[in-house]
Amino acid sequence: MSMWFYVLLALVALLAAWLGWRYFRLRRALRRYAAELRADSLKASARSAEVESVSNVLRQILEENARHLSGVVADRDRLAAVLEQMADGVLIANTVGEIQFANPAATRIFAVSNMVGKTVTEALRDHRLVDAWRRCADKGAMQSELIETPASHQTLQLVVVPDAHGGGSLLLVQDLTRMRRLETVRQDFVANFSHELRTPLASLKALAETLQDGALHDASAASGFLQRIVAEVDSLTQMSQELLDLTSIESGKASLHIEPTAPRKLLDSAAERMRLQVQRANLQIHVDCPETLPAVNADAARLSQVLLNLIHNAVKFTPAGGQIRLSAQVDETPGSVQGCVLFAVSDNGLGISSDDLPRIFERLYRADRARTAAGTGMGLSIARHLVEAHGGRIWAESVEGGGSTFKFTIPQAPY
Ligand code: ADP
Repeated sequence: MSMWFYVLLALVALLAAWLGWRYFRLRRALRRYAAELRADSLKASARSAEVESVSNVLRQILEENARHLSGVVADRDRLAAVLEQMADGVLIANTVGEIQFANPAATRIFAVSNMVGKTVTEALRDHRLVDAWRRCADKGAMQSELIETPASHQTLQLVVVPDAHGGGSLLLVQDLTRMRRLETVRQDFVANFSHELRTPLASLKALAETLQDGALHDASAASGFLQRIVAEVDSLTQMSQELLDLTSIESGKASLHIEPTAPRKLLDSAAERMRLQVQRANLQIHVDCPETLPAVNADAARLSQVLLNLIHNAVKFTPAGGQIRLSAQVDETPGSVQGCVLFAVSDNGLGISSDDLPRIFERLYRADRARTAAGTGMGLSIARHLVEAHGGRIWAESVEGGGSTFKFTIPQAPY
């Protein structure tokens, strides 16, 4: 054996030992790195040169993933907040119709708690809505349904969309009850207003034509006709004035001149101004208010307008022989705002039906029965706006045939 052979053998042994040492170092470094990764993937650092490059690449991937994940979490939170705040109801049902998700609006609209886990039939509780969901599931196409619920008189619009990912369906429900009601109020407004315009206009035309046909030359008849023309024009002027008042009060343009005002003075002067009308209708009016009542923070002219509107109605809707009572006292109703004076205008007239009662403060709302009496349906709406502008509230208590009491509160003036 030559010497070169032994040299070569020694070199191979040295190389094997070096490689073995490198191998064990690398394994130890990898184990340590793996343990650190397990503990906290983003803080793990390769403290040896062997895994440095792998660790750098891995860290980049992990950081990218973390960024991506936080973006996804932010999107998810945003979506959850939108679903939480939405006025429209959102439901997700699986293929067999079991609710998987319901936002708070859906729970509110259908008045069903703990919707998740219930079936579509249990959640929607209306066969027309359930049919729309079934049609969507059968045809795999969007379906919509507009219904009015018989019990709660809600107008609901349901749209069912197939869920392309999960195989179930997405149900969107809008509560259109308020919109429908506003639409009815608007239609009533137009109908009432044109009705109210037609009557004085037709009378004016008839009166003018009668004068034209010869009554003009009969002095006593002519003066009677002219008086009636003036009365009709007055009623048209009052209508346009009320409409203007209402528009300016509603748009917040009417400013109030608030100062401490004695409730007794307000009631006495309103009763005085209406006394003639009250007598003509063969009614009686009484004021019941302690002199010592604290002053209220009020615009006296505007508050008088509220009282006059209420007394005017009491006169219109109380048959001859009836009584009208005006009163004011410190508001001690349980749960009421402290420091208010409670005003009331009551009559023992026709009263208001329970169907009409919730709507009488709406603009131009008039009970059908009231159509025969002169009026525009704006008086109570004006009164409500004015009372609310004073920081008070107004409501009515009435039983059909048993008279009505209109009450409103006005904050007391500081001593
Ligand atoms: P109107 O010009 O028709 O009187 P209001 O807004 O003042 O308009 O009143 C709305 C409706 O409320 C009336 O048409 C009537 O049906 C009802 N109403 C108001 N006050 C009384 C009352 N004192 N007694 C009976 N019904 C009333």
